[in-house]
Amino acid sequence: MNNIFFYIFARIITNFIMTTDSTIRPEAVGDGVQDLQRGELVRENNRDENIEYRQAHHQAHGVACPQCGTVNDPDAMFCASCGHQLRMGTCPNCGSEIDPEADFCEVCHHYIKKDICSFCGAHMSGNEVYCHECGNPRGGLVCPICNTLNDFAFCKQCGVPLTDEARVLVEDLKKLPDYQLLSETAKELEELNMQLPYASERDVVRDQMNDKLRERVLMLLAQDQGVPNPVIPKKQTKRLSKEELQKKKDEKGRLLTEILDRMAVPALPSPIKARNYAMAQKPSGVRLAWVCNWKHAMHSSPCGCAKPQLGGKWVILGKNNKNEIKDDK
Ligand SMILES: [Zn+2]
Ligand SMILES: [Zn+2]
Ligand SMILES: [Zn+2]
Ligand SMILES: [Zn+2]
Ligand SMILES: [Zn+2]
Repeated sequence: MNNIFFYIFARIITNFIMTTDSTIRPEAVGDGVQDLQRGELVRENNRDENIEYRQAHHQAHGVACPQCGTVNDPDAMFCASCGHQLRMGTCPNCGSEIDPEADFCEVCHHYIKKDICSFCGAHMSGNEVYCHECGNPRGGLVCPICNTLNDFAFCKQCGVPLTDEARVLVEDLKKLPDYQLLSETAKELEELNMQLPYASERDVVRDQMNDKLRERVLMLLAQDQGVPNPVIPKKQTKRLSKEELQKKKDEKGRLLTEILDRMAVPALPSPIKARNYAMAQKPSGVRLAWVCNWKHAMHSSPCGCAKPQLGGKWVILGKNNKNEIKDDK
C-alpha cells in the first residue's frame, strides 16, 4: 500500500518538475542560438566565396590600385606606386581582420609582429627567446609592481618602466620643463580629488570656533612663558566649500588638459617608439586615458592601440568619459 502512495507521489513530483522545466526548456533557447549561428554560417560562407572569387581574380589579373590605377602583384598589401592599402591583414593569433600595418591586435590583445622586438623595435628572425639588441625576453616582461605580463616596455596596468631603455627615457623626459609642470599639476589635481569639502555651514562655523580657541590657548601659554604680545601663526586650513573645491578642481583640470594637449605625441616612424614615448610621458596620480590619432578611440593606454605611430594624446579620465574606453587589460 505504501509503495503505491510513494509511486503516485513520485509521479506528481516528476510531472511538476517537467511542467516547470518546459517554461525554460534549454532546447528552446538553443533553437534561437542555432538559428543565429546558421545565419552567421551562411554569411561566413558568402564572405568566403567572395574572398575566393576576389583572390582568383587577383591571381589572374593582379590588383589595380583604387587610388592611382597601378596594377600590383596579386598578393601585394600596398600599392607599389602610391602606397595605398590594397587589402586587410589577418591577426595570426585570432584570425580577425586587421590593419596590415598594425603590430598589435585590438581584438585579442596580442602583439603580432614576430620579426620585430616589441620592447626596442629591433629586427628579429622570429624565433629568438631573447632580443639580441635589448636582451629582453620576447615572451613578455612581468611587472614587479603589479605582476601584469607585458609585451611592451612600460606596464600597461600601472605605467612603470620595465626595461633599461624605458627607464632612461623617463629620466630624459623629467628634464623637460613641460614634463615637470605636467607632473606637478597632476599631483595637485590628485590632491584636490582626495580632499573633502565642508559638508555644511555648521562645519565652517565649528572650524572657525576651533581656530579661535586654539589661538586663545596658544596666546595664554605664550603669555605664561613671559611673552607679552605673542604672534600666533594662523592655521592653514585646506578645507573648502563644495563650490570652491569644484572651482579649484576645474581650474587644475583645465591646466592639465592644456599641458597634455601641448605634449601630444606626434606621428613617429616606429609604433614601438611612439608607444614608449607616450607611456613615458604619463604622469602618475590622476587617472588618464589615451586617445589615438588613428581611430580617435579611447584606450586605457597606448599599449592597447594597434597603430600608436600615428600619434595621440593623454586625456583626463572622468565620470563622463569612463565608459568610452574600448579596450581592456
Ligand atoms: Zn596606387
Ligand atoms: Zn587577434
Ligand atoms: Zn629588443
Ligand atoms: Zn604594473
Ligand atoms: Zn588606437
